[in-house]
Amino acid sequence: MISTLRHIVQRVSQANTVEQSMAELVRLTRAAMQTDCCSLYLVEEHSLLLFATEGLSQDAVGHSRLDWGEGVVGLVAQREEPLNLADAPKHKAFKLLPEVQEEAYRAFLAVPVIHRRQALGVLVVQQRLARQFSEEEESFLITLASQLAPQLRERALSRPQDPKLIHYPALVAAEGIAIAPALLARPKMDLVQPERRAESPEREWQRLEQALLATSEELAELGGRISEEVESELALLFDCFLELLADADLRLALRNCVEQGWMAETAVSKVVLEYVGQFESMSDDYLRERAADIRDLGQRLLDQLARPSLAPYRLDHPVILVAKEITATMLAEIPRQKLAGIVSIKGGINSHAAILARAMGVPALVAVEGIKPAQMADKTLLIDGLEGRLWLEPASEVVRAFEALERGLERRSARFRRQLAEVCHSRNGEAVSLLLNAGLDADESVLGKAGVTGVGLYRTEALFMAYNQFPTEQQQERAYRRVLERASGKPVTIRTLDVGGDKPLPYLPIREDNPFLGWRGVRLSLDHPDLFLTQVRALIRANEGLGNLRIMVPMVSRLDEIQSCRRLLEQAVQELGEELGRPVTAPALGIMVEVPAALLQLARWWPLLDFVSVGSNDLTQYLLAVDRNNAQVGASFDSFHPAVVAALAQIASHSADQDLSLCGELAGETLGALLLLTLGYRQLSMNSGSLGAIHFLVQHLDLAELPALRESVLAAADGEEVRRSLVEFLEGQGLGELVPANA
Ligand code: PEP
Ligand code: MG
Repeated sequence: MISTLRHIVQRVSQANTVEQSMAELVRLTRAAMQTDCCSLYLVEEHSLLLFATEGLSQDAVGHSRLDWGEGVVGLVAQREEPLNLADAPKHKAFKLLPEVQEEAYRAFLAVPVIHRRQALGVLVVQQRLARQFSEEEESFLITLASQLAPQLRERALSRPQDPKLIHYPALVAAEGIAIAPALLARPKMDLVQPERRAESPEREWQRLEQALLATSEELAELGGRISEEVESELALLFDCFLELLADADLRLALRNCVEQGWMAETAVSKVVLEYVGQFESMSDDYLRERAADIRDLGQRLLDQLARPSLAPYRLDHPVILVAKEITATMLAEIPRQKLAGIVSIKGGINSHAAILARAMGVPALVAVEGIKPAQMADKTLLIDGLEGRLWLEPASEVVRAFEALERGLERRSARFRRQLAEVCHSRNGEAVSLLLNAGLDADESVLGKAGVTGVGLYRTEALFMAYNQFPTEQQQERAYRRVLERASGKPVTIRTLDVGGDKPLPYLPIREDNPFLGWRGVRLSLDHPDLFLTQVRALIRANEGLGNLRIMVPMVSRLDEIQSCRRLLEQAVQELGEELGRPVTAPALGIMVEVPAALLQLARWWPLLDFVSVGSNDLTQYLLAVDRNNAQVGASFDSFHPAVVAALAQIASHSADQDLSLCGELAGETLGALLLLTLGYRQLSMNSGSLGAIHFLVQHLDLAELPALRESVLAAADGEEVRRSLVEFLEGQGLGELVPANA
């Protein structure tokens, strides 16, 4: 059974067009089930179109339609469950469509094809003989439909449609709208090179050294340009590339390869593919995506070997850069003012290219479904980086609509940005502190604005991930000092290392069955006091003469963790004081409340803490037992769930007159920020892109008017009801423009 299934799924995936693949599907399924007829209906505009058949009239294919819920096939789509009938014409919903010629068939078995809760079609088998299909047959068809669903979705998307409607779904890596011609990134050399022998290893090594040098020079230049264009630590990324190129192990592996008689190209291919394989086999998304960086380096080396004098791009107008997989260095090759947008067929939203795009403010789509780069050559593209859609040759009315939307968005975000110049007060004069979440990809320029009171969360793990080994005390000190200095005297809360979970370090492999419940955050730090002390010492040194540092510890679930952190902090302060020969100030120490245990113990812990920040991302994950990174259960990850709302309310009520903030994604959403203000939070930390809108929200609210809203959100039965109360409140205040499009 399994081999038959696998055979069908494989054959379907190999066909060239969606029509061919579905014709193959019904042919093979009919044969496998030894039945008289097999047909596939696809959902189209809320009806079901006969798309492929073996056994019904071929003339009806592409024409015959059933309405949603009409006939037994329509019923299967509507109810989203299989229907197994010994004699279908006797069923009350049966509807005979004369053009399909199914009069002869009696037995009927149909299963819905569903992908991520969306009905895509119905797969039907029929037989002349009146009989019930067996449980095994039913289970075979259900399994087949579930395995075909993702393919069917992809293929249905690639079908030619009304040109006005042609768009392709994608993930938004950086928000915004862009309309410009596509520029296909220069084809990269294939990393898989033929195995070729060389006469002289010495000459091959010379060629390789030359290529390594030229690639380093090229990357240093790109890195220099990026650090001028982007205010972030991303230039570090280019330093890391340079470090990797200079890495003694890599060079030794290449040298060994040429000494074994391989050509320079073969050596690069062998060595780099091995590195790529190591990264691709890692279970963590972030690290798997690092494989793309290494592949990119290898391809650049091959490029240098094959065509050393390739000229840079010459562009006289802005373009949307398109590639199968865009890398950070590809992106850096286009000057910022000529880069309107980015489209990458593969890749995730954590790739360095995606992080870079966000930092540069360039709209970017990744994981685009149903289209290949070659189809975009010389075409106008429209990136809808709000909904996650790519339009190909959009009709003029679509362009006009998006241009108007873009102008509106620009005006709105410029208006919101201008707001930040003012101190943030509510309409009734209460001060609300808006803080920045920072890390590798933050726009720290907003720290100069009066409306931003400091950094509420600086995630240090990105810094650790950028290096190939633990950064030294000096390297860390430099990075921390830069952030503390840029904050111009405002407080900066730097979080100690929060690796583990979904963020292991390449040089500290952790194998666990349940990483989110494992060796994460403070647990790892306290098991390695050497690492923790190095980080704390670097932080204290960076704070010398500035005094705006606060240290925050993640994932705390036990009292002794706070006590140990306090003890190690005091030890570091004392040691540094002795080393420097002058007293050193101890920074404030706080924790994140993101584990349910911490919220239940908070009232007891407050006397030991200088401040607390709620991590609503993890708190939601742990309260609801929903993996925050698993798309399959994404719908259940809801920070508006009444249990989360009750937890947030409890934390606030246990923290009267204490230094309490919240730094999860919730703080940067308009409905989330309104909820938090309603529950009593007055310090919200968020990504730079959200600050303007939340500032606008606060300034237009009278916080004294919130108690009624508080009652209704605390009484709500589900997340939907919480959101509805918040939306209604905003609309009632004339703040409808702040209601998100998908609310
Ligand atoms: C959180 O958990 O809400 C948080 C801010 O931390 P992170 O997203 O880095 O886990
Ligand atoms: Mg967290």
